[in-house]
Amino acid sequence: MKFSKEDENYIYQIIGKNIKKYRKLRGWTQEQLAEKIDYSLSFISGIESAYHQTFSLGALWRISRVLGVDFYKLCEDENEGNTNTKYINYKCDLCGTETKMPIKVVKHFKNMYELTGNQNLPTFDCTNCDGKLKPTNPMDF
Ligand SMILES: [Zn+2]
Repeated sequence: MKFSKEDENYIYQIIGKNIKKYRKLRGWTQEQLAEKIDYSLSFISGIESAYHQTFSLGALWRISRVLGVDFYKLCEDENEGNTNTKYINYKCDLCGTETKMPIKVVKHFKNMYELTGNQNLPTFDCTNCDGKLKPTNPMDF
């Protein structure tokens, strides 16, 4: 199944592929990943399947932690050369860690925020501390 880039299913498919890639790099089966993360096997296989399965930002966060992969890496689109990928700079409001988020990921979560009437750019949990990653220059968006 192929989704157009304007379809929000597209990002789920990209993330599913990346989870599979990083899981295999670790040499884990779907069962092993499911066990480590305390999710069902059907949830993990659903995420990785071509038909994909929607999942929460929190679930994605937990998977990135267990796989030991930077959050944004799970959102990288191999179909686009790295030079084409646009990023927004984020910075932790507590420890000052800086990171980059692909603009399409930010856009995706912004759309979800807007459903709840929130007009702000999304923030993300810091990987190093309990702080929040916030866009350093929201005007870049
Ligand atoms: Zn931090």
